[in-house]
Amino acid sequence: MRLQGIAVSPGIAIGKAVVIGQDSFSIPREYVEADAVEQEVARFREALQVAAREIENNRDLVTRELGPKSGAIFQAHLEILEDPKIREDVESLIRNRQYSSEKAVSLVLRQFAEMFRRLPNPVIADRAYDVLDIERHLLRALLGQPHRSLYHLTSPAVVLARNLTPSEVANLDRKMVRGFATELGGPTSHTAIVAQGMGIPAVVGTGPFLTEVSGGDIVIVDGDRGIVIVRPDESTLREYEEEARAIRAFITELEKLRDLPAETLDGTRIEIYGNIEFPHEAALCLQNGAEGIGLYRTEFLYLGRNDLPSEEDHYQAYCEVVRIMGDRPVTIRTFDLGADKVPLQLGLEKEANPCLGLRSIRLALRYLPLFQTQLRAILRASVCGNVQIMFPMISTLAELRQAKLMLAEVMEDLAESRIPFRRDIPLGIMVEVPSVAVTIDRFLDEVDFISLGTNDLIQYTLAVDRTNRNVVNMYNATEPAVLRLIHHVIQEASRKGVPVSLCGQMSSHPLHTMLLIGLGLRKFSVAAHSILEIKKVCRSVTVQQCEALAKRALEMDHARDVQALLREQLIKLIPAFSRIM
Ligand code: PEP
Ligand code: MG
Repeated sequence: MRLQGIAVSPGIAIGKAVVIGQDSFSIPREYVEADAVEQEVARFREALQVAAREIENNRDLVTRELGPKSGAIFQAHLEILEDPKIREDVESLIRNRQYSSEKAVSLVLRQFAEMFRRLPNPVIADRAYDVLDIERHLLRALLGQPHRSLYHLTSPAVVLARNLTPSEVANLDRKMVRGFATELGGPTSHTAIVAQGMGIPAVVGTGPFLTEVSGGDIVIVDGDRGIVIVRPDESTLREYEEEARAIRAFITELEKLRDLPAETLDGTRIEIYGNIEFPHEAALCLQNGAEGIGLYRTEFLYLGRNDLPSEEDHYQAYCEVVRIMGDRPVTIRTFDLGADKVPLQLGLEKEANPCLGLRSIRLALRYLPLFQTQLRAILRASVCGNVQIMFPMISTLAELRQAKLMLAEVMEDLAESRIPFRRDIPLGIMVEVPSVAVTIDRFLDEVDFISLGTNDLIQYTLAVDRTNRNVVNMYNATEPAVLRLIHHVIQEASRKGVPVSLCGQMSSHPLHTMLLIGLGLRKFSVAAHSILEIKKVCRSVTVQQCEALAKRALEMDHARDVQALLREQLIKLIPAFSRIM
């Protein structure tokens, strides 16, 4: 049996199936007597406390093992659990309708999950799975049931379930679980993020199939293509085993590149920097040979907490990155909040078009004390290492000048207070709005460096919301308009001798490496786990080959033709990449 699902965590897992069929708890008693209502409310409150302790333990475990990004998922669960609305609704059902705690909890949380599921934004809709995770914690606390059997595996297995919540994945035994597949689940669910962090191949959203699998059946989970094969025939099994072996060999080969430079075959040096969201990720960048941090997304300091980060919180975070990176450049991007990264602390009004609204540098220039706090911290950190400052989503010269003015004011404040900082701290901007790309020559005179933020540049050039599932097929890095803009920006920057990098997701995919080198890019800033793959491409090509390829790509009419060309060329040079294309 072969099923198509959504690939959420890469790699191939082959093993015997452990089937977890049960998705909901059976509720033994639906109503309570009128005189037992207060006792029932007390039982619910006790369950809240037990569930909170369980979630706190998960948060601490995951933060320790996978880092704060995954830990923040469980902090958010705690916040949902503590939501007074949920508590009021459950208690009102117990008091007014004499529902048992189990029935009331299930009703309220499932309604809450359904509300999320109906929202058009897929990222938010997938939060429904988080709510179901919380329901499970509460029901387990009420019914006194132990964790599902998947935590007590005694031999290696592939876990198959109707659904796995983020906390269930976080508690999987990494030594025993080779991979998992679930009937439910979405691409942006937290389950997916935790699985990636743990390096467990996973496929979700296959649709119903569990009734047709028995424990012990051989199963293949292909976490790159989103395929699950139950009871494969001999030849499929052999093919997959061979592929898994080839992947392991390729990974070993990539690891040998850690300390080698990203130099093309004809001797052109390409720089590879890392992108981070949390300070601890700098260590993995360094370990994979990053020459600096090209993008530190500092807005994550604001997310997943109730209060605002203090100047000291900022300062400590920046110093940690600088400490890890030594004298290598660390590019701190000022907060890029708004759109899909909403800071609840500011109580911002809901906007009809948040991507075109008060986000990023616009928000910073509206909430000046917030911006000043961050600028002070960056400047203070500038004397600890090689710190650069970068403004996101600049769209006009006036905006850039206003941001620079703020920086100058903060410098004066620090100087007056005799707090040391580096006055000539390099200053750059993200090029992610077409208005800046088109008139880049004007901006280049006023900055020390620029970085192409293609995630947003693609969105704004093509008028395609990067988070909208309905138009995802129109969001394409290789559209001719996008390529021309990138080419223009790189050419102008090179002409004026201003360093230019590209830190959008595009640079992290090996499919685009040759094209970008051909368009003149010499500095990539990529996700930590992509550094070695990008280096591998750089070391396998000549600039001449890349330029010829870019020339052909620029002449094409359609993104899909460019992609086909890039795929063909890359696989010809490095066949091992064929499986991720
Ligand atoms: C970008 O837009 O390319 C970028 C790197 O910024 P972010 O993805 O954080 O919006
Ligand atoms: Mg951006």
